Order: sequence, then C-alpha cells, then structure tokens
Amino acid sequence: MILVIKNDISQKEFDEIIAKIKQLGFTPHISKGVKKTIIGLIGEQAERYKEVFESMEGVEHISEIEQPFKLASREFKEESTIVKVGNVEIGGKKVVIIAGPCAVESREQIINIAKIVKSYGADLLRGGAFKPRTSPYTFQGLGEEGLKYLAEAKEITGLGIVTEVMSVEQIPLVYKYADMFQIGARNMQNYDLLKEVGKTDKPVLLKRGMASTVKELLMSAEYIISRGNYNVVLCERGIRTFEDSTRFTLDLNAIPVIKSKSHLPVIIDPSHGIGIRNFVPIMAKAGIAAGADGIIVEVHTNPQEALSDGPQSIFPEQFKQMVEELKLIALAVGRTL
Ligand code: PEP
Ligand code: MN
Repeated sequence: MILVIKNDISQKEFDEIIAKIKQLGFTPHISKGVKKTIIGLIGEQAERYKEVFESMEGVEHISEIEQPFKLASREFKEESTIVKVGNVEIGGKKVVIIAGPCAVESREQIINIAKIVKSYGADLLRGGAFKPRTSPYTFQGLGEEGLKYLAEAKEITGLGIVTEVMSVEQIPLVYKYADMFQIGARNMQNYDLLKEVGKTDKPVLLKRGMASTVKELLMSAEYIISRGNYNVVLCERGIRTFEDSTRFTLDLNAIPVIKSKSHLPVIIDPSHGIGIRNFVPIMAKAGIAAGADGIIVEVHTNPQEALSDGPQSIFPEQFKQMVEELKLIALAVGRTL
C-alpha cells in the first residue's frame, strides 16, 4: 500500500504521518520525488488501517502497487535511482565500466590489471576472492588474502572494489574491503544472504540467476531493499536456454523490461553472457545500445593461464578498443562515457 502525500504539507505534518505509521507498528519506506512524495507500507496488515491513513491530514490518496515487488517498482518511485559507489554514480547519464579479472590470483596480477583498466577508463575494479565454482576441485579463490590484494590495488589506483560475497558468514569480512557487494547468479535466491546485505549500508550488485525470470530478480532486489538498503544495482548476466553455441544467452530484452518496471539501475555482464572472448565487446556495445547503465567485464593479461573464466576474459588491448567504441554507442543513445 502506498500513501501519496500532498505536495504542500509542512515538515511537521509529514513527521506526524511518519510517527503515526511507526506507532501502528509499520516501517515507512519514503520515496521523495520531484513531483510527489510517496510512503510505502508493506504487508497485508496495512490494509486494516486504510481508513485511518486515508483520514490523515496531508495524505492525498492511497493506492496499491500492482506488482509483487513493491519498493523496487516504478510505481513506488518514478524517478530512476542513482546508486553511488564511492564517487562513482551508477544509473546517471554516464555509462559505468566495472572491469578486472574473474578472480584475484595474486598480488601482482590484480595490481597490474587494476592499473591497466584504470588507464583505459574503468570506473570500478572487479575481482573475486571467493569464487562460486562449478567444480569443487578447481580454484576457489584466495579468500581474505585476495581481499587484501584488492585493497592494495584500490590504494594504488583509486578504483573502488566490486567483489562477491557468497555467504552470510562472509559479510563482515567482505564488508571491510568491498565498496560494493556482488551477489552472484547462483546466490540470487539465497534469501538469508539477501536479507543480511539488506541490513548493511553497502551498495549491492545483484546478478540475475541463470534460470530466473526478471520478476524473480526484482523480488530478490525487494528482499534487499525492504531491509533498508536501497542501493541495489541489477545485472543481466545471461540465462540458460536451449542454445549451446554460447555459454549463456545474454537476455538483452531484460534491460528495457526492467527499466520500465523498476527504478533500479541495470548493468550487463557480456563476459558470462556469451562466454567467448572475441564476442564480448560486441555484446557490451549491444547492451549499452539497449539502455544498460554500465557493464561488468572480465579482463586478463594472460587469459590462457587464468585460474577461472580465461576463455571469456578479454585482453587489455581489446578492453581499450572496446571502451573507445562504447563512447560512440553511449553518445548515440544520449549517454556519456
Ligand atoms: C563472476 O562475476 O565471476 C561470476 C561468478 O558471475 P555469475 O555469478 O554471474 O556467474
Ligand atoms: Mn567469472
């Protein structure tokens, strides 16, 4: 249920509405737009007090949000959300580039690649210290050691860190080093994890599960937002289809669909989406043309030797050229890079 608040009420009247909501045992979720202010109340219980709210001074009207995801919907918040990661804004006019290796492999590797991607225009550094691998016998990540190397790379380059947190127990540790939590595709429906990152103040990059619908992705975002963390960026990273000539099928449809249903920023991951190095730049361009707010891309100086996702990691030179081309695409769709 949402309360649409009159434009001309005083702060005192507004505070009274909030106090009343809290007194009745609800958590108000406030969306202050340019045109109107909305207060969201979640749960069927809110219905019982409909008349109380309706009669309150300052409440223009009450309406329902049709979608099952409430706080993530455009009905709740009409204006697009900009998520700030340090001083990088995701969801604004500028297309954002998150780049780096799939996994942190060594101190030298991550510092070297961080310097390279920074010099070619990356805004944030990616790199997993905890890796969700299909096989338990392959490289699982360096853990805290990897997080420390990421911190050093940040110190040297100034790039904020995007890194995966795989479990509730890892949150305090990853919190110390990351500027943005990454929730991987395999954990998109790990509701305990979603709830816990929702209680933090750290931005979250939520990747779409490989067999999840857009609606399920938005419901997962709702878990995070409803706990109080509004800084959620969604990521389309490819879904499983019958097609087996590529690793996954990058669902470009998801971008305009999500943009119409939700106010949250959306980025794409062309690396996992197609899984083939030489096709990554073209899918990155397609994603930006389709309206994505940025990309997350895997880059490696020696992909043949990479400990994970080598075949889809692009060379630094490819990254450099891709960024130059993305500038033109961004311009063509009214964005900057
Ligand atoms: C990754 O970004 O390296 C990764 C594991 O992604 P996903 O969770 O989308 O598979
Ligand atoms: Mn990867």
